[in-house]
Amino acid sequence: MSIWRASRAGDRYTESQWARYPGNPGKEPRSGPVVRILVVEDETALAAQLESALRAAGYAVDRAASGDRADYLARTEDYDAVLLDLGLPRVDGLTLLRQWRDSGMAVPVMVLTARGSWSEKVLGIDSGADDYVAKPFRIEEVLARTRALIRRAHGHAAPELRCGRVTLDPRLAVVTLDGTPVTLTGHEYRTLSYLMHQLGRVVSRTELTEHIYAQNFERDSNTVEVFVARLRRKLGASTIETVRGLGYRMSPPSPAKGHPA
Ligand code: CA
Repeated sequence: MSIWRASRAGDRYTESQWARYPGNPGKEPRSGPVVRILVVEDETALAAQLESALRAAGYAVDRAASGDRADYLARTEDYDAVLLDLGLPRVDGLTLLRQWRDSGMAVPVMVLTARGSWSEKVLGIDSGADDYVAKPFRIEEVLARTRALIRRAHGHAAPELRCGRVTLDPRLAVVTLDGTPVTLTGHEYRTLSYLMHQLGRVVSRTELTEHIYAQNFERDSNTVEVFVARLRRKLGASTIETVRGLGYRMSPPSPAKGHPA
């Protein structure tokens, strides 16, 4: 996905970096992107659990079990995100984080706090943390938050939406068909955007109308039909499906299923 290309284009890997890369098939480096994460945690079992889950999710992972080691790695290597425990030998996590921010290091940091410790959360965020997760955590939550953290850091707070041949970039309000930009009116754009945000779900005309019009005036669910018709003309007839009596739906293509006869 393009979000990694932004920071990773042209990156090369030294032999030692490549040896640590989880996707290393033992041959040539894959041309695909590598997202690198530093896990700073002195509880060995927890650190190992985080590392294996992150590696399984496709990240390259380094581990540090002390504050000074973390500081050294963070200043010499290029990470996309740091997961930072606060209670660490030698240099504690908050001190480390403040030092990093004071010296202009912008790497996204997620702090691992003790459950229920609101003061740790507040201190962490005051010190420059981008997010936090409370221990004990579910690994799925850590993975989801890590993904979001990296996405935000790459300026993709709202990721590009895709449905078959159509893409929609919510930041730029640009719609493309097979990669070619398509000009839409404001109402057409909002209709498409709402359906794409609800991908796979049937949206009633009433619901759609409420989301197209910001104000109470001018609402007329019949005009939704007009916008849908225009979108079909511009993006292809099959882009938006009519579900009789219920509303409209956009569905991602299902290539694996095969076509019914
Ligand atoms: Ca600790």
